[in-house]
Order: sequence, then structure tokens, then C-alpha cells
Amino acid sequence: MKTLEKILQKVIEKNPGEKEFHQAVEEVLSSLEPVIKKHPEFLEEGIIDRLVEPERQIIFRVPWVDDNGEPQLNRGFRVQFNSAIGPYKGGLRFHPSVYLGIIKFLGFEQIFKNSLTGLPIGGGKGGSDFDPKGKSNGEIMKFCQSFMTELYRHIGKDIDIPAGDIGVGSREIGYLYGQYKRIKNSFDAGVLTGKGLTYGGSFARKEATGYGLIYFVKEMLEANNQTLKNKTIVISGSGNVAIYACEKAQQYDAKVVAMSDSKGYIYDKNGIKLDTIKQIKEVERKRISEYIKYHTEAKYHECQKDIWSIKCDIALPCATQNDIDINQAQVLIKNGVIAIGEGANMPCTNEAIKFFLENNILLAPAKAANAGGVATSALEMSQDSMRICWTFEEVDNKLHEIMKSIFKAADKAAKEYGMPGNYVAGANIAGFLKVANAMRAQGIV
Ligand code: NDP
Repeated sequence: MKTLEKILQKVIEKNPGEKEFHQAVEEVLSSLEPVIKKHPEFLEEGIIDRLVEPERQIIFRVPWVDDNGEPQLNRGFRVQFNSAIGPYKGGLRFHPSVYLGIIKFLGFEQIFKNSLTGLPIGGGKGGSDFDPKGKSNGEIMKFCQSFMTELYRHIGKDIDIPAGDIGVGSREIGYLYGQYKRIKNSFDAGVLTGKGLTYGGSFARKEATGYGLIYFVKEMLEANNQTLKNKTIVISGSGNVAIYACEKAQQYDAKVVAMSDSKGYIYDKNGIKLDTIKQIKEVERKRISEYIKYHTEAKYHECQKDIWSIKCDIALPCATQNDIDINQAQVLIKNGVIAIGEGANMPCTNEAIKFFLENNILLAPAKAANAGGVATSALEMSQDSMRICWTFEEVDNKLHEIMKSIFKAADKAAKEYGMPGNYVAGANIAGFLKVANAMRAQGIV
């Protein structure tokens, strides 16, 4: 007899060495037992077998020439995971750690996240092992142009719509879009999201993932008789998600005392001065250690992971996957943490998630809590199609409503399936049901 356990074993055998992908599949399947009890047809009809197998995986060569005239080579990826509810949609990650297993974990997560937004977008993800650190602007442009010279044939505004992720911000999206437009000789703005405001971008897209995270955490706290006001918050990362999570948290009168980058973290007991972080990270593209030059009362520590030893009420991992393992989870709980909001994708190991839930810590899972970015990307696509431009307030209000409805969906599914307060299971189940039903309706394809 087919079981979820057997499906997981098959995923591990068929995708050897892709440990992040195995982890992501295990995390989702571990929530589906009660769903299968109620709806055995999802298992019997092979819906789950197909769900864990990408529809298409593209791997390509990305040659480019550096500033010294030397030829360089990277590997590019695009995994088009599931198009049951809409065209593939998901970001591009440029980081030396990227390999197929990372892109597949991200693409798999994206299926459920996109489903939760309530908008018609399927799941995909892409990227490259290219390291943008230390590269000149010209090198970044040449790399992006070469990457798009292959990718363009696989994407389209009704086919697959990439966006940013780690190492891919508005500068990179601009270069990618410029090359796409040149090859296609067509202003198809809807083919990429996260574009600049002067050429088809949306207001509030830059802020959306971080703001959305805080909107979700706010809903979760309020449903449990808590608020953000005067809470002490620690945020890992100082990139796009971390910066705008900090901004919105501060607007709700919470106090963010620490942020990090891949080298280390800063602790400012008086509260992080976000303007300084933005100047260092968004304008100068320097290390976070620079912060203490401007604020001498703050402290810098070399080890990024030790950020989780700081006493806080709310922890927001917004850097990368597996940032919080069981050891860090134990320290956070010992120090009195009440809530975790996952801004990054899969920032907690499965063991850490289990431990948080067993200890009744409120956990806002990434699929739901960081869905504001892709939701606003879908709003950008709508504006591009309609050739209109909503104001910042209009987009932000829509984002806020979407995050509230995602919280409601996760909360409702958790209650319906007998796990009230378990938003991890609730988000997995709510995201899964919509996609699984759409797959059933479309037959064996
Ligand atoms: P950025 O590239 O803007 O920032 C990433 C931040 O994380 C940087 O501070 C970076 O430090 C740090 N970081 C990256 N890798 C590591 C590592 N291995 N160890 C420790 N720190 C690391 O990326 P985003 O803010 O866009 O993305 C952050 C997370 O949020 C990712 O998990 C991404 O998948 C997820 N996400 C992003 C969305 C978006 O809209 N951008 C949407 C939904 C999820 P350094 O500068 O030193 O490299």
C-alpha cells in the first residue's frame, strides 16, 4: 500500500544528495496524514507522487568574461515545479551554495506559498552558483545578460515569471529584464517582477516580504492575546527581507536589537537605527560590522549564529535556510522567546520546528509568513497586464489584506484538522488542498 512514508523514501532515492529538498518534502508530508485520512484519493490517484516531481528541470551553462578579460563559467538553473493553479512563479537566487537540491527545495515550497496567496500562480524557482560578492557592476551586468540569453526561451508572462531572491535585487532584475527585452524585441513587463518603478515595477514590492512577515506575525500574536508593542525582536540577515521586517516592526513600536549578515551580527541595546543599516547594505553594499563606526554604543560579534543567544520575545530568521537548529531553538526558549516568524525560506530545521511546537511557541511558517513578496509580485503582474499603476497605499493595503487572509486560512485548516495553533500544519494543509484539487480536476498530466 502507498503511504506518505514510502513517497518520502522514493524522493530520497530518486534525488540523491539533495538534502534540502528531502527536508522540505519531509516537512510538508509530515502535516498531511490527517488530510489523507479524510481524502485517500490524493494518495490513491498519485497526486502526491506527481506533486514531489518537478514538471521540468532546466540546467544550463552561463559563460561570461570578467573585468580582466578572463573567461568565467557558472551553472544556471530553473525548476518549473507545478503549474496546476497558474504559471510558474518564483525567484532567482545567485549564491555560491546554489545547486539543484537548493533550487528544488525552494521551488517545492513555492507551490504551497503561492497557493496560500489566493492568487493564480504556480511554483518555480531558479538561480545560479554565481557569487555576486566582490564583483564589479559591469561583471554583474555581463553575468545577468549571459544568464538571460539562455533563460529567455523558457520563460514568459503566461509561462514562468522569475523574480529576486538572495543575491538578486532590483539591480540584477533590471539587467535581466533589459536583456530579455532586447532578445524578444517586446516590452513584456510581466515576464519578471521586482522591476524598478520607472519600467513596470510595483510600489511596495521592495518592502512586501518584510512588511508581510510582520503583518502575519501581528495577526498570529493577536489571535493569541499578544501584540507587537514593546516586544524585543532579533532579526537575522540584513538584506531585503530583514530590512523591511525591521522597518514595519519598528512602526508597530517593537524594539529590534540585533541584525546580522553572513559574517557576524550587531547588537544595539538602544534599538537598531535602520537608516544606518540601509546606507551600509543598500547603498554602500558593505559589511554590517560598519554599523559600530556610526553607533559606538553598539557591539559587533563575528559569529553570525550566536545572534540567537540574545534574549528576545520574537525571533525573525530572515537570512537563509537552516539558520536555527535544535541547539539555537533550545537557547531561544530558555531565554523566553514567545514567537518565531520565518522570513527566510526553511530557516528552522525540522527538529527545531518540532521542538518549538512541543513547547507551545507560536511559529509563523515561511510558506505563509513570507508569502507577501510573491503576492505583491502577482500584483505587479496584474498592474503590468492592465497597464496601470497603483499607489503605495493601494498595494500595501492589498498586501495587508492578503496576509490577514493567509493567517485565517492557516488557522482554520489547523483547527479543522485537529491541530489548533499549529500554523505550520495549517499552512501546509491549506496550501496543499487547493493545488491537489486543481491537479485532480486536470487529470493525469
Ligand atoms: P538578500 O540577498 O537581500 O539578503 C540575504 C541576507 O542573508 C544577507 O544579509 C546575507 O548576508 C544573509 N545570508 C545569506 N546567506 C547566508 C548564509 N549562508 N549564512 C548567513 N547569512 C546569510 O536576500 P533576501 O533578503 O531577498 O532573502 C532572504 C531570505 O528570504 C531567503 O531565504 C529568501 O529565499 C527568502 N525570501 C525572499 C523573498 C524576497 O522577496 N526577497 C521572498 C520570500 C522569501 P551577506 O550580505 O553577508 O551575504
